[in-house]
Amino acid sequence: MAATDSGSSTQPSYKASDGKHQRPAFESWGRYPEYEADIRDLHWQSDFPHAMEGVHNGALPVGMGRSYGDVCLLKDGTLLRTTGMDRLLAFDTTTGLLTAEAGVTLAQILDFAVPRGFFLPVTPGTKYVTLGGAIANDIHGKNHHIAGTFGNHVTQFELVRSDGAQMLCTPTENPDFYAATIGGMGLTGVITWAQVRLKPIVSRMVDYQGIQFHGIDEFLDLTQQSQSIEYTVSWIDVTSTGKNFARGIFMQGDHSQVPAPLKVSSKPKLVFPMELPGWALNGTTVGLFNTLFFNKQIKSRVSTLQDYEPFFYPLDAVLKWNKMYGKRGLLQFQYAIPWEYAREGTIAILQEVAKSGLASFLAVLKAFGDVPSPGMMSFPKPGITLALDFPIKPEKSFALFDRLAAMTHEFGGRLYPAKDARMTAPQFRAFYPQWERFARYKDRALTSSFWERVTEGEGDR
Ligand SMILES: Cc1cc2nc3c(=O)[nH]c(=O)nc-3n(C[C@H](O)[C@H](O)[C@H](O)COP(=O)(O)OP(=O)(O)OC[C@H]3O[C@@H](n4cnc5c(N)ncnc54)[C@H](O)[C@@H]3O)c2cc1C
Repeated sequence: MAATDSGSSTQPSYKASDGKHQRPAFESWGRYPEYEADIRDLHWQSDFPHAMEGVHNGALPVGMGRSYGDVCLLKDGTLLRTTGMDRLLAFDTTTGLLTAEAGVTLAQILDFAVPRGFFLPVTPGTKYVTLGGAIANDIHGKNHHIAGTFGNHVTQFELVRSDGAQMLCTPTENPDFYAATIGGMGLTGVITWAQVRLKPIVSRMVDYQGIQFHGIDEFLDLTQQSQSIEYTVSWIDVTSTGKNFARGIFMQGDHSQVPAPLKVSSKPKLVFPMELPGWALNGTTVGLFNTLFFNKQIKSRVSTLQDYEPFFYPLDAVLKWNKMYGKRGLLQFQYAIPWEYAREGTIAILQEVAKSGLASFLAVLKAFGDVPSPGMMSFPKPGITLALDFPIKPEKSFALFDRLAAMTHEFGGRLYPAKDARMTAPQFRAFYPQWERFARYKDRALTSSFWERVTEGEGDR
């Protein structure tokens, strides 16, 4: 079994022969924690479980490493990288059902589907994630209040266990493994291929509206008024206090119904050039960014037609933007707090962040709807979700994260494993009380640093 990590603030460091710090070959998006692992590439569905030969310290299937923390890491273990299994297998233009290997990225699916008049049923804020990764974290998007999670649109997939057993999983065939694997964080087996239902579109464009709001009550009013709009999400300024506390921009949109050319997206040309020094993102620079972003939209409401790329994936325009956070990387914090305490909890957490003086560059607020997730361990639940990015400054940001996690617990919420590197074992057990039932479906040869941390090595039931 893999070695556990207590989440201590000292990072292991790797020295190259010239004495320079060398980063591990596989990193999560937050680039924290840094763990060495043996990497084996899967190219064909039949490569697993042969790739397990000689594995002594546990293994974990991984995709693009777009999770922020340690859910896609295994310290001193073996990572089974699935991005070589990247073939589209079948597409039915009448039903929109697409079958593809699990290492295909959502970017590849869009390049294939958009010119044919189809779009993803649910998409996260980056298209550089794999189909397998999207299922294993049961990701959500801006249309959660209407479409639920990604898993709601997965009609079937194949799960291969380390003993070689192959299982077709659907809502009615092996339904327990279907539910355990959607949101199952790669722990139930390797998803080799999956079928997902795409949705028809007639244009690349989105009918976009951006609306300024001041405070959580205005955000909640806008959420109420936009129930029938497919996509809603808000950017929120977490640095301002006083009359500007919790100001933001409510962004909403629907796919345009006016037919227009359905071309493939061009490839991004910008790559973030270097790691910024640790001091570059501080309260002043991020506060300035927030003021500029808020005032970029001079009018209180703007309406425009926007291409889907900047609407869904504004961050994908610059590759490797995580380097902006410097060598230490970044941590993301994302909670879901149920409606009962959503307003109170969100205000209290925003006040705590403002008080800390730690700057969050990206802060995204959204209301989750009540479409039930098919996954046993899925994160979303009806209420408010807030995602915050912080540069890692161990002495300050870890203490803040621990306070925010404790507050999330107090307000009856939970944290998102895909964005986590800090939640404690007692918190995990409280956030996901169903974890012991889930553990019955776990493959004993598979584990992750996240799982070892939050179950304190007792995760095989
Ligand atoms: C800029 C940005 C924006 C994001 N926005 C959102 C968002 O809006 N909503 C959201 O929900 N998430 C969001 N995320 C998180 C991201 O969507 C998820 O972490 C996603 O799961 C990453 O997929 P991946 O292919 O990179 O998988 P990895 O990060 O490599 O792995 C993720 C999990 O999937 C498992 N896994 C991967 N492949 C397989 C397989 N074939 N079989 C079994 N298990 C597998 C791994 O074990 C791991 O537990 C965002 C991330 C970034 C960087």
